[in-house]
Formats: sequence, structure tokens, C-alpha cells
Amino acid sequence: MSQTRKAVALISGGLDSMLAARVVQEQGIQVDGINFYTGFCVEGHTHAIRKRDQAKPKRNNALWVAEQLGIKLHIVDIIDEYKDVVLNPKYGYGANLNPCLDCKIFMVRKAQEWRQAHGFDFILTGEVIGQRPMSQRKDTMPLVCRASGAGDLLLRPLCARNLPPTLPEREGWVDRERLYGFSGRSRKPQIALARHFGIEDYAQPAGGCCFLTDAQYSVKLADLWRARGQRSYELDDIMLLKVGRHIRPSPDFKLIVAREEGEGRFLQGYQGRMTSLSTQSHPGPLALIDGTPGAADLELAARIVARYSKGRDAEQVELELRHPDGARSRLKVRPLRDDELPREWVL
Ligand code: SF4
Repeated sequence: MSQTRKAVALISGGLDSMLAARVVQEQGIQVDGINFYTGFCVEGHTHAIRKRDQAKPKRNNALWVAEQLGIKLHIVDIIDEYKDVVLNPKYGYGANLNPCLDCKIFMVRKAQEWRQAHGFDFILTGEVIGQRPMSQRKDTMPLVCRASGAGDLLLRPLCARNLPPTLPEREGWVDRERLYGFSGRSRKPQIALARHFGIEDYAQPAGGCCFLTDAQYSVKLADLWRARGQRSYELDDIMLLKVGRHIRPSPDFKLIVAREEGEGRFLQGYQGRMTSLSTQSHPGPLALIDGTPGAADLELAARIVARYSKGRDAEQVELELRHPDGARSRLKVRPLRDDELPREWVL
């Protein structure tokens, strides 16, 4: 009796990894999914907070894909270990602060460790040659295999026919003839394959599923490192970079100003840890202060927050300053005029 082979698939929540898992499932292989949580993911709470994202499903796409495929999903928190990938990428960054090649190697290495610990036979990814400029190129594909330690136990079902046969193919665990030879940036082959499988609903990340590919986010992350004088971060730091308008008038402090009610409620959750400002005399946003502002800085901060309130044209706006220990005081300020707010302060 032939043994049922087991594969672990890296599931991002996007279409490619979903298809890769499905293609191999079709060949009678038992597939489990693995999803790595880095803290930089776009979906989830970001879509839940912002009004403009209301139409996007507020779901964990990796879990949703697993449910659609009928596979077990293992969600692995790699927040701490992943820091070294972001802070010290051996192969550098892409267009923004996205260390895609190091990230891919790291995730495949983690999947390889998981595979060995759980007695699975091989690893699957949804990679397609030429799909991404940094991590999915013909010359980086073998590098990922080598540097991750997965070697020829890493199968890419969507582009396998363009690559040398892997062990699962050579051993006949999977039929190479029933794998694919996709390449390039076009999504048409994947969309056609999805249609073939009757898959109509899938996540469509614009420019990536990770905030590190986002130019504005990367500017804010680089600013955080500059202001702290060191390249480091905690989970709360990278979460807060996803929310609000970030304004840095000085190296000593920056403001995170809510752009809408949902963001204001999210920022409220940090009032016990950070100093905050909220307008009292006029409706306005909640703002957090990150850093160590002096008295003059606090007044400037209050004038900036007043500028984003309904009292922006008033002579005076009253605000409440709240400290993390709950102590409160009031400030009355003249709102900053547009010409007093240099563009470079807004990150
Ligand atoms: S987009 Fe983000 S998650 Fe994807 S490979 Fe690049 S760094 Fe990693």
C-alpha cells in the first residue's frame, strides 16, 4: 500500500499560495498550511479600523484560504525572530524597507524546521518566477532553497516545470506533468487556474500583503529609527505606524493624529501608555505624543492638533493633555496655520 505523503504549504492568504496548495492536494497529497505572523501584515485590524476599507472583508485571509481548501492551518508568531530580518537583511531591501529575499529565506527555513519537527515530507510555496522583482527571480529561486536549508524539498507547483525536478517529483510523490510552468508578472494564468478550480473569491493584495512594501510606511519606520538613534522596534511601534497621521516637528517627539473615528478609538487604547491630546472646545481628533517633549513642544503639539479640529479657524482652541498615569491638564492655544506647518513634518 502506498504511503500518503504530507506537504506543508506556506499560506499567505493570497491566490498564489492557495492555488499551489490546491494543485498538490489534487494529487492526493495531505497538505497542511503554515502562516507566519510578522506584525507587518496589512489585513485584519487595519481593514477593521479605517472607513475607506469598510468594503474589504475583515477576515484573516490565511485562515479563510485554509477553510476553503479544507486544510489545517498552523499560525506561527515570528514577531521577535523576524526583527533581525527587517533590521539586518543580508540581501538588502527592495524599493522600500521590504527585505523580501531574506524574508522568503527565513520563512522557508522556519517551514523546514516545522516540517522536520512534524514529520512532513516536503514544503510548498506559491512562488512564480518573475512575479516579484526581488524574491521571485530565476536566480533567487535556488538561493532560497540553499540558504533556507530546504534544498530540493521545496516544491513550487505553479512554476515547477521551469525549474529542475525536486525530490518529490523525482521520487514520484507528485506528478511533474500535472504541475505548472507559470512565469512573469501577469496574473492571467493564476486567474484562469482559479476559475478551473471554481475559486471565485480570493484576496487581491495591491502591491503586497505586507506594510514593508509601502513607501509611506517605510518613511515612518525609517523616521522611528532615526529619532530613537537605533534601528529597533517593538510590536506596538509597528502597529502604531499603520494608524493615523504622523507629524514630527522635532527629533524629541512626534504626534500620531487620528484621521477618523475608528482610528481615534484605536489610539484610545494607548492612552494608558502614552501622553495624549484631545480638543475640548471644538470637535477634533485624539492625538498621541511619542517621545519626550518639553513644555514648548507640548504647546506646539497642541497647536497642531487644534489645526486638525473643527476649531482650526478659531482664535483659540482648548485641549486636554492627559498623561499615562491619568493626570490631566488644560491648554488654550491658537491653532497652527497651514503656512506654519512645514510639509516635511508630515511623514
Ligand atoms: S512583501 Fe513582506 S512578507 Fe512578502 S516577501 Fe516581502 S517582506 Fe516578506
